[in-house]
Amino acid sequence: MRNKKPSKDTDRRTFLKNIGMLSAAGFLGTGILNTACGTNTSGNTNNKVPGIALVGLGGYATGQLAPALQETKHCKLTGIVTVTPAKEKEWMKKYNIPRENVYNYDNFDSIADNKDIDIIYIVLPNSMHAEYSIRAAKAGKHVICEKPMTTTVEDAQAIIRACNENNVKLSVGYRLHFEPHHLRAMELGQTEEMGKVLNTDAAFSFVLNNKSWRLDKEMAGGGPLMDIGIYTIQGACYTKGQWPVEVEARYGEVTKPELFDSVEQSISFTLKFPDGTTSKHNTSYADNANYLKTTAENGWWELNPAYSYGHLRGKTSNGQMDLPNVNQQARQMDAFALSIIRDTPILATGDMGLRDMMIMEAIYQSADTGKPVPLHLNGLDIPQFRLHKEVNALI
Ligand code: NAD
Repeated sequence: MRNKKPSKDTDRRTFLKNIGMLSAAGFLGTGILNTACGTNTSGNTNNKVPGIALVGLGGYATGQLAPALQETKHCKLTGIVTVTPAKEKEWMKKYNIPRENVYNYDNFDSIADNKDIDIIYIVLPNSMHAEYSIRAAKAGKHVICEKPMTTTVEDAQAIIRACNENNVKLSVGYRLHFEPHHLRAMELGQTEEMGKVLNTDAAFSFVLNNKSWRLDKEMAGGGPLMDIGIYTIQGACYTKGQWPVEVEARYGEVTKPELFDSVEQSISFTLKFPDGTTSKHNTSYADNANYLKTTAENGWWELNPAYSYGHLRGKTSNGQMDLPNVNQQARQMDAFALSIIRDTPILATGDMGLRDMMIMEAIYQSADTGKPVPLHLNGLDIPQFRLHKEVNALI
């Protein structure tokens, strides 16, 4: 009798089981992490759920992170850092935060003495990430820094140094490393399930019509590339499991000069990988696009929309990806909390944030000079799919 072909449902169950998305799946990891790290939840000497303080209560902290912290299993919201009195009162009431856990930018450093706060999550405009991440590390707190990690390569290196010197953990807010469709794209690419990856085509754009810090180069470091194009760089790199050796870029036309007098309106670029294959990218603040498409030797896959907080959809040359949408931010913060509680590996490492800063700096250099720019991204601590699978199974 011929072997029965696994049904789509079996495929889905197997994949979800592998990345820990089925009820019992948290216990189905191969055990590599538990043995390697030699600890379990009881390894957390304080035996308490780590507390997180959010720094910067703007759109992302208010709309995504605080609500996600109501769903986390391994960490909780215990503090806030803000200079807006109205927000203090509202957040204290809504999230039951005591007055002594509310800080402003001036008394921020005294957070060192607060035992309720173990993790500081920096959700400020990009140019402020380095200062507050370094102050958090010096206060002896673990750090999650939003993307892009900083506005310069030197600042990203300074954050990593400060976290190392103060013996605290560091991660960048790359939520899609905990998202089933992206984990599947990583798996398809890195395990060469459909053969070698031949090329990736990625775009992330939206229309930005109002002046804000995002359009100020000093505050943002750059335009759509730094804000959303970074997701397409991430997507291409984790699909291949390689980092680019060369970039080539050009700026798009400026059709709204009244808005785009400081940062680019749009930019397109090509990344060249060590095996000679390429990925093509587009990102803009004057257009709408949201996809990650890959062609391999024996098939293709596509996520569209690819980078939203929910409602992601994926399909392959074999049919639809039947995968759940999850609370990406809750899983991301739980994974970081587990790295503190159980010493599990960090997936979105500081080195990954630094790599992306190096790539983006090279992209701007290429667009400015009109020439390809070589990249030498060796010796960075950037986990591959195998570790993603292990860690996601534990969340
Ligand atoms: P926002 O403008 O909505 O909020 C910024 C916050 O910073 C506000 O609370 C504001 O009061 C505070 N702030 C302090 N000093 C400021 C200054 N000089 N100018 C402006 N604001 C100042 O921004 P946001 O959308 O919440 O983004 C914050 C960070 O989070 C950015 O680094 C952004 O890239 C990142 N982000 C990440 C995601 C993600 O999916 N991972 C999504 C959105 C934003």
